[in-house]
Amino acid sequence: MNKLLAIIRERCPRCATGAIFARLFKMNRRCPVCGLEFEREQGYFVGAMYFSYALAIAAVLPIVVAMLLLGFTAASIYLVSCLFLAAASPFLFRYSRVLWIHLDQVIDPR
Ligand SMILES: [Zn+2]
Repeated sequence: MNKLLAIIRERCPRCATGAIFARLFKMNRRCPVCGLEFEREQGYFVGAMYFSYALAIAAVLPIVVAMLLLGFTAASIYLVSCLFLAAASPFLFRYSRVLWIHLDQVIDPR
């Protein structure tokens, strides 16, 4: 439960207190509370793209299905999906990194 709350609140996977992000798109290099280094190595967040992709699909799929059932054209579904994903990109960016950091901490705790 503590881990889930830490993910939702975008907190450090080790102490569940320190903020991972300093601003909208700016991460803290280290946890301000326990000092855990968030970006362990160059290219570390490439793996977060898998979470970003999964989150984007999970977010846009209900919209696509609802619009298909309501009879919208493929072009309008595509347009709405693109606009929705553009608006959701800060959320996708942040949570994909948070999920990646938490998964990595479970697999390889430091
Ligand atoms: Zn911490």
